[in-house]
Amino acid sequence: MSKRERKKYKGIKWCFLTLSLVLIVTAFVYFFWYTPVGYRMSVMFHGFRELSPNIYVDKNYEGDTDAIPTIINEAKERNFEFWGEVKSNPVIIISDDEEKIARLGGNHNAYTIAVFAVRTYISLSSNWLNVDVIAHELTHAETHYRIFHGVISFDRPIPVWFDEGIALQNDKRERYGDTAWIYATDYTRKKVDFDAITGEEFYKGDEKEILYNYIVSRYEVKKWIIENGIEALKALLEGIRRGGDFYSLYNQSKNTET
Ligand SMILES: [Zn+2]
Repeated sequence: MSKRERKKYKGIKWCFLTLSLVLIVTAFVYFFWYTPVGYRMSVMFHGFRELSPNIYVDKNYEGDTDAIPTIINEAKERNFEFWGEVKSNPVIIISDDEEKIARLGGNHNAYTIAVFAVRTYISLSSNWLNVDVIAHELTHAETHYRIFHGVISFDRPIPVWFDEGIALQNDKRERYGDTAWIYATDYTRKKVDFDAITGEEFYKGDEKEILYNYIVSRYEVKKWIIENGIEALKALLEGIRRGGDFYSLYNQSKNTET
């Protein structure tokens, strides 16, 4: 290789390295500033303070921060009573700032990532800072931990109705309760098509349709747990984690196993 060629090769190499570096930095900034998951993962750099371990509150939050740990602890207690043993430890992020809520991608929901470790990030505004909503999101976190730990996954191996149905076991709001179920199913006459709400379509439709999806999912999962027990639910989630098929595990009740 001549001196001129070497110089040219060196120039291309530097150009390539600089371009790669710019791309990496751009992707990094984009992820942590402009995607809800990235933003949630890096809240400590976006004007939030750690109120207690894994609870972040917007520095400009005007609500009563003293009451927050008590409400969260009560929700954790409810989650613990349901599972018997809680393995997840989600990050809870609280803000009332509209711009920050937009960046967080929601004011009362949970995002889980399952790469190397399972981490769930729960976003809440003061309107949703109550035991039912927090217990609901903590239950999602525990469900996700149980199906994802030790595996790398980018998709949801359980139907949305099942995920929401479990979360609602710890959400005691009447609008999702047994009475609501009786009305929603027209005194049990109306049959539910769960196949129609396995994916994101669960959240689509008008308010009444979405509420219906929550109501019927809560009841279906409640019924399954009464018939099979909480240990069977845990075993089912572990079966999913090991790569099992949801419907074959779900339809295989304890009674038919013997
Ligand atoms: Zn939910």
